[in-house]
Amino acid sequence: MIYESVIGLEVHLQLKTATKLFCGCSTKFGAPPNSQTCPVCLGLPGVLPVLNERVLEWGVRVALAFDCGIARVMKFDRKQYFYPDLPKNFQISQFDMPLAQHGHLDITMEEETRRIGIRRIHLEEDAGKLLHEASPTESFVDFNRTGVPLLEIVSEPDLRSPDEAYQYLVGLKAVVQYLDVSTCNMEEGSLRCDTNISLRRPGASSLGSKVEIKNLNSFRAVKLALEHEMKRQALALDRGERIPQETRLWDAKGQRTESMRSKEGSADYRYFPEPDLVPFVLDEGFIRRIREALPELPASRSRRFQTSHQLSAYDAGVLTQHRSLAELFEGALRAGASPKLAANWIMGDLLAYLNATRLEPDAVKLRPEGLAHLLELIQDGTLSGPMAKEVFLQMLERGVDPVELVSERGLRQIVDPAALERIAEEVIQANAKSVEAYHNGKAAALTHLIGQAMKRSQGRADPRQMSALLKRKLDAARQETK
Ligand SMILES: [Zn+2]
Repeated sequence: MIYESVIGLEVHLQLKTATKLFCGCSTKFGAPPNSQTCPVCLGLPGVLPVLNERVLEWGVRVALAFDCGIARVMKFDRKQYFYPDLPKNFQISQFDMPLAQHGHLDITMEEETRRIGIRRIHLEEDAGKLLHEASPTESFVDFNRTGVPLLEIVSEPDLRSPDEAYQYLVGLKAVVQYLDVSTCNMEEGSLRCDTNISLRRPGASSLGSKVEIKNLNSFRAVKLALEHEMKRQALALDRGERIPQETRLWDAKGQRTESMRSKEGSADYRYFPEPDLVPFVLDEGFIRRIREALPELPASRSRRFQTSHQLSAYDAGVLTQHRSLAELFEGALRAGASPKLAANWIMGDLLAYLNATRLEPDAVKLRPEGLAHLLELIQDGTLSGPMAKEVFLQMLERGVDPVELVSERGLRQIVDPAALERIAEEVIQANAKSVEAYHNGKAAALTHLIGQAMKRSQGRADPRQMSALLKRKLDAARQETK
């Protein structure tokens, strides 16, 4: 049977404030275990939490960027549960009065834009971390992460496919990076997500029972887990089975989900108002100042790129997905680059390099002026295509300016026809077998000869010119032997 999937996402975002949510401990990642703790975040008796104002400000900044309504009264609640990484046996969170509600994020799917609702955004403190690797028989607890500020962003179940879920996460991360409030580094746990999915017959208004999936450590894992879960639930429903409401874990190795526990309801957490933090009213002026200071966000920047730089919606979307890519592009334009050429190099060679090295865009040393200079050197014929690629790589890895590199290394495209002729002649003489193969109709032999010529010129010949020259010479030689 055909089913429609109903998908929601919960994103936990670690805010990159210097100190924790309710105490002055550092939040720096990677410190020795338990070196960043104090009586407050260890939950020792008699201590009182004090709210970090910066967290509140950044939480409001994120909420406004997603067009949420901000709560006027700030109230915190205790969420009780027992787990070794939670020293207080409760977590300070927000239950019935979240920081913000009713926002949205627009995602672009091929030609269609879909508006995905954001149900709520609330503040809470992170738990510690269990370490199992140090010993086969013991587990250790690191409380450095206890009390680090988290923002939980809960979507409405508006997503209809694993691809939409993926796009939502990409879009959400882009907005948060523009706001500069989180590193969004999934490997360090700064961005974590859980997803939930149920299936129903198309057009049905009621929802099927929801399965939550945890242990997702990349956006790709979210997509794969949802694809797997859609198939698993559809098969079960086809057999007339009931889908139990439960939490499942994604097993990345086995590429499948496994049942973890039946889903707990909010009653299991016995929420009650946090008695040590008195509810308070958020000042209108505080919210207004944050709203006025919001930066240009990816969606409006993409629209601006399309209208002022004549980029396609697709190109503008890719370039604005990451703040530093967008800034590189605009910086190159300010330094005189043409929008189309700059976009091509960023979306072509730079993105290929980032994919291959798995680096984030801000990790490369490429400077916008350098990109503009490279484009000039290509246009004025100083650099051939392959030389430009080689120079670009040096720019990415060492941050050098191409103009300096060209003069320092004596890189300059060979344009002198006599010099090119000489190289072609040498290659033909040194590769008799390939020449014969070409004359016997093996077109691939020409590719080999071009490769040899490029090598002999140390990449400084223009490959198109060299290929035409070799072909002309070989064909002329064939005429003579006939
Ligand atoms: Zn502390």
